[in-house]
Amino acid sequence: MLTKSQPDEVQSFLADSSHLSGGFAERVVFPEIDEEVAEVLRDATRNQTSVTISGAGTGTVAGRVPFGGVVLATDKLNRIKQIVHDDNGGGHAVAESGVILGDFQRAVESEGLLYPPDPTERSCFLGGNVATNASGARTFKYGPTRNYVERLKIALATGDVIDIRRGELHAQANGGIAIPLSSGRSIEAKLPTYRMPQVRKHASGYYVAPGMDLLDLFIGSEGTLGVILEVEVKLLPKPKGLLSGVVFFSSEEDLLAFVREARERSLANRGSSPTVREGSTDRVSSPTVRKGSAIDARAIEYFDLESLRFLRQKYETVPIEATGAIFFEQETTVSTEDSLMTEWLSLLEGHNALVEKSWFAANEADQAGLREFRHALPVLMNEWFARHHQKKVSTDMSVPDEAFAGMLRFYEDNLSGGNLRYTIFGHIGDNHVHVNILPRDDDEAARAREIYRTFIRRAVDVGGTISAEHGIGKLKREYLRELYGEEHLREMAGLKRAFDPAGILGRGNMFSEEFL
Ligand SMILES: Cc1cc2nc3c(=O)[nH]c(=O)nc-3n(C[C@H](O)[C@H](O)[C@H](O)COP(=O)(O)OP(=O)(O)OC[C@H]3O[C@@H](n4cnc5c(N)ncnc54)[C@H](O)[C@@H]3O)c2cc1C
Repeated sequence: MLTKSQPDEVQSFLADSSHLSGGFAERVVFPEIDEEVAEVLRDATRNQTSVTISGAGTGTVAGRVPFGGVVLATDKLNRIKQIVHDDNGGGHAVAESGVILGDFQRAVESEGLLYPPDPTERSCFLGGNVATNASGARTFKYGPTRNYVERLKIALATGDVIDIRRGELHAQANGGIAIPLSSGRSIEAKLPTYRMPQVRKHASGYYVAPGMDLLDLFIGSEGTLGVILEVEVKLLPKPKGLLSGVVFFSSEEDLLAFVREARERSLANRGSSPTVREGSTDRVSSPTVRKGSAIDARAIEYFDLESLRFLRQKYETVPIEATGAIFFEQETTVSTEDSLMTEWLSLLEGHNALVEKSWFAANEADQAGLREFRHALPVLMNEWFARHHQKKVSTDMSVPDEAFAGMLRFYEDNLSGGNLRYTIFGHIGDNHVHVNILPRDDDEAARAREIYRTFIRRAVDVGGTISAEHGIGKLKREYLRELYGEEHLREMAGLKRAFDPAGILGRGNMFSEEFL
């Protein structure tokens, strides 16, 4: 098994997209087969050496940043093992955890299939996506990664390997869980007793729900319960066509009214409940779309005025009078594409969009261009943070439907008077926008952190979640305490100890080491 320990070889594994500094590790190991992973973990448990699992390092909360011990890199667990067509036009695929998402999506699409999770940055690994329950723009229609995971093979800290298929193991009514091991022993533990926020997207702490499928415990567990070795996912038929647009507005009121209508019509059209809540049993994995042409967006993404100012660095044709924009996508067929275009135009005109100056795409090359526009913003933000040697002050909260308009106003009211630079953008269809505060010096950074804390409190007060998709990692664990309280963090740590008795895996992720 390849091992690297020279400082210049290890360097790139000590950071991720959070730009948290100070990470260090003795060595990075690159297992190629399951047994090598198990061996690393067995040794680490025996020697009480901490192990940080590394995917592609695109995570934004320092989950894969190590503070000592060994980094277990999944880069060489990179085989796509199977892509199979099912009778229903969809299919399923089996892949190892180090497969790059972009490669996987291309392989699946070349078979006429679709893997919906699409967390903007496609250089991430499938294992990282499962570990963070990643979502993205398409989540508005398709839900997060969780909805597609059918089976996981996982190496536990003790070296035991478990293979769990959806539907096989459930929590007991009293919250007890039991997972049989091949040795004949079984892992027995108690689920934490908190109730997860009832929002459309949630990636804060362990997934817990009454009678839950135990597969869900590992999805979003951020490298703290085991090493995901192999993933089996459900695939959908690839849509025949796609219509997308970046549409500009000169009034925020018009933009928000447009979003409300596009969102409501989409949800009504697909017959799903307005709020597909992460912790509830009405999880809709493959919404059925009523036949015929009607608004049914798969993505509705927001850019505020400051985001557009940022993007003008790269895209000069952003109209000068625009105060905000929406990126939308809707799947089409040959017979619906024209009528859908007409419906979107009429909806846009009804809400006074700057239609003439907006951008629309109906072929793959133009769509890639619009998607690149969407992707450019977080990339430009990340570069800005790195240039100014400032830590990211970036929110990832989502709130229930009824609280979203008030939350957006709360963000704006708190930010506008403070002479701070900021952007608000993201997944408005899921009541989930990212507020990025851009401090230029340490004083502004301190103010930004204070404002951030106010936002956290507000999100918790209105029943929201503190992280909808990026996870908690090492950066947001103090806020998880605000969401769930110390007693529940202790319950989480107790659950972790059942899987990882020496507490070696993902130390410092989700809760601080004092709880172990
Ligand atoms: C420009 C940009 C845009 C982004 N947009 C989105 C977005 O829209 N939606 C979204 O959800 N995320 C987004 N992200 C965040 C990031 O892409 C996701 O969190 C992604 O899922 C991380 O995958 P990774 O392979 O890079 O994981 P890493 O960063 O390497 O690790 C993330 C966490 O997962 C754990 N982990 C990794 N692999 C395994 C494994 N095999 N077994 C167990 N634990 C493991 C790590 O220990 C760590 O805690 C964005 C990031 C960037 C840079």
